[in-house]
Amino acid sequence: MSAGMDAGVVIVGAGQAGGRVALLLAQRGYPGPVTLVGAETLPPYERPPLSKEMLADPQHPLPLLVPAEEYERLGIALRLGRRVMAIDRARRRVMLDDGQSLPYGRLVLATGGQPRQLPFTLERLQVLRTVEDVRAIAARAEQAASVLVIGGGVIGLEVAATLRKRGLAVTVVEVGSRLLGRNFPEPVAAAIADRHAAEGVAVRTGVRVRAVSEDDAGLHATLSDGSTVGADFAVVGIGITPDTALAQECGLVTDDGVVVDADMRSSDPDILAVGDMAAIPGPDGRPMRCETWQNANVTAERAVATILGEAIPPGEAGWFWTDQYDLNVQLTGDTMIGDSGRLVEQRATVAGGRLYLMLDGGSRLVGAAAINAGRDMSVCRRLVAAGAALPAALLESDRFDARAARALLTPSPASVRPVDA
Ligand code: ADP
Repeated sequence: MSAGMDAGVVIVGAGQAGGRVALLLAQRGYPGPVTLVGAETLPPYERPPLSKEMLADPQHPLPLLVPAEEYERLGIALRLGRRVMAIDRARRRVMLDDGQSLPYGRLVLATGGQPRQLPFTLERLQVLRTVEDVRAIAARAEQAASVLVIGGGVIGLEVAATLRKRGLAVTVVEVGSRLLGRNFPEPVAAAIADRHAAEGVAVRTGVRVRAVSEDDAGLHATLSDGSTVGADFAVVGIGITPDTALAQECGLVTDDGVVVDADMRSSDPDILAVGDMAAIPGPDGRPMRCETWQNANVTAERAVATILGEAIPPGEAGWFWTDQYDLNVQLTGDTMIGDSGRLVEQRATVAGGRLYLMLDGGSRLVGAAAINAGRDMSVCRRLVAAGAALPAALLESDRFDARAARALLTPSPASVRPVDA
């Protein structure tokens, strides 16, 4: 056993990515001690249900990765409600906020991010990142008739849909010229905007909140166009800032997130980073952060393979989803093709579903979006990962031909038939 293994693995951050690293190490027989340190008091949980099922019903079971007892059973030391305050790379130790320090052979940073805040601190202004945040928002919603949602990204719009379904009057304010401008293709964002409008949500784009005040009657926002919006409270969903302070203080290379290679190793090969705060090599090789459920799992898998000295699992096409009202929207690969790309819209194989195929300058599928077309999306994910070129007939059809698409992935009977058959 190497000296590194003797000291074991310390994971900083007990979110989905950090939790997965700990569980996978233990499940795959890593022989050294595994310690998971997290500032929240809950064991690791997944965040996607927070703005949906949990906000709709605070009694909804916690989306824990595994029951709390499982960590003990696997021999993982959970240090919850604790923060790492500093990393001493020379002595290979981390300092905790209770004055203790822990030695490490390998350190995994999984600190995620903090919700970006507006420059106003008001009691009625709420962010959504943790279970505690959701409980606070749900408690407010219980007493409220109206909410102002600031930020028309995925979190803001999921909150808007959930609270609208709970009967609140909802206004969404988005600074960009359209909703979901960061990663959704225009027609998909337009379909989502239409659905919100049909539900009676007031969507205001191209405006920012210039000032907010609160009194007993509620919250009063003045927007950049001079108009005002009143609501009982507001939810701010304007993105996250990666939590890279510890990494920066100990001199690791950062660029938005902690810069890692495909093995999840930072500029110090004994320190790895995973999840929302890791800046992984993007398709063009430049560091890129990715804040998805899938990315938390994929980067955890990679880090664990690196620590165990195993082969890195093959890459998958990036993928994420959102649920708003009865719309399930999924995105894979590069969905923000520039002018050089082409977007082909088709009916999905399932009635009512829509599919949006993103092509490079030629016929290669580089990304896709699906509205209520999960099965077609799973084919598209594989096509994107394979870098498949789509034949003209498939692209010219107004309905997605899933069978023809799948045939591009599997060897055709002709190609596997012996030549003399
Ligand atoms: P999240 O994952 O939290 O939804 P995104 O980055 O996908 O984060 O979306 C955040 C949205 O908030 C973006 O569409 C962005 O344009 C918008 N936004 C950022 N700052 C403001 C602001 N001050 N007021 C309104 N919208 C904002």
